[in-house]
Amino acid sequence: MPHETAARLRGFGTTIFAEMTALATEAGAINLGQGFPDEDGPREILEAASEALLAGPNQYTPGRGTPELRAAVVAHAARWYGRELDPDTQVQVTVGATEGIAAALLGVCEPGDAVVTFEPYYDSYAAGIAMSGGVRRTVALRPPSFGLDVEALRAAVRGDAVGGRSARRGDGAGPARVLVLNSPHNPTGKVFTRAELEAIAEVCREHDLVAICDEVYEHLAFDGEHVPLATLPGMAERTLTVSSAGKTFALTGWKVGWVTGPPALVTAVATAKQFLTFSGHGPLQHAVARALALDDAYFSVARDRLRTRRDRLCDGLEAAGLTTLRPEGGYFAIGDVASIGEDDGAAFCRALPARCGVVGVPVSVFCDDPDLGRTLVRFAYCKREDVIDEAASRLAGLRG
Ligand code: PMP
Ligand code: GLN
Repeated sequence: MPHETAARLRGFGTTIFAEMTALATEAGAINLGQGFPDEDGPREILEAASEALLAGPNQYTPGRGTPELRAAVVAHAARWYGRELDPDTQVQVTVGATEGIAAALLGVCEPGDAVVTFEPYYDSYAAGIAMSGGVRRTVALRPPSFGLDVEALRAAVRGDAVGGRSARRGDGAGPARVLVLNSPHNPTGKVFTRAELEAIAEVCREHDLVAICDEVYEHLAFDGEHVPLATLPGMAERTLTVSSAGKTFALTGWKVGWVTGPPALVTAVATAKQFLTFSGHGPLQHAVARALALDDAYFSVARDRLRTRRDRLCDGLEAAGLTTLRPEGGYFAIGDVASIGEDDGAAFCRALPARCGVVGVPVSVFCDDPDLGRTLVRFAYCKREDVIDEAASRLAGLRG
């Protein structure tokens, strides 16, 4: 028997972000590939972490997270969304949203359960579904609007294309059991509208789905409002909401995340999570509790600053000749390289560091349908303005 990666993980290889960051480092290129800010989050939060580290304890936290952070997560959900959560039964602190999503899938899915998500999708969903024994089913969000096709969602949930209603739930071909949603959305920058979310909620109720909603960009919706799926009628009892300090506070390296939801579903997450990492980042949990309690101005200033950077990058991409799909939220903008005569975004991205010293990520890696994102490239704008300007001027050089 060859000693190799298990079949369910074969094909996942190295994440595109690691690959592109390595390429950027090697070529000394500007990294607009991986979504991390090049300036760290608020000084007072860094100081709170450093004080907590020195003061201790630096030992295991309770498995569900420190009481302080769980209370802060509850207060944040009440303050921004009017949600009422119990800190002891409805909150699970995780090692980033990544662990939250994986633990939710591992905790909820039975082998063979169909899990529906929209594509393009954030890469960890596919791996999380595979690790949990689920079967992925996708619904396309098509450029340029990335609008919701609710009948396509219904058909995917029913499993029309793979055996339909006659098949049983659990054999990979029957009706789905879980929906994974992400808004604001990576990589498209789409912020699902309230009407779209209401339509999605209706499908979830009709088919008794568990929804896992990834809201890591919850404070970074520039156009339109961010509506947590869990706040819609009949959704609180079936939704696990995942978030993280990484994007909101520009602290992606801390990997402090959390999951909230009804007690039974949070118990499912906690059961899986305790055997993944049990707990993590004690002193950082203290600092993230402080961050969640920052005043409203912090959140609006951070959002407005990023909106300016979005506009700067999009203007720069357009000046460089790339048709740009201006994102409504999040960290990323998509440029269509077909407008500069390219027909393969993946080949374009592989060559780009050497051609002009910039790194982007091909959207095709987030898609099951090879045609969906073939000429689309994702660029991160969570970078300093001078870095964005330099990248844009290098890209403009491509036109010769
Ligand atoms: N979900 C989405 C949509 C993301 O873009 C990211 C990347 N930050 C994550 C989850 C992972 O978050 P974390 O770094 O907190 O694990
Ligand atoms: N979320 C980040 C992105 O989309 C990357 C996170 C990672 O490297 N795993 O670029």
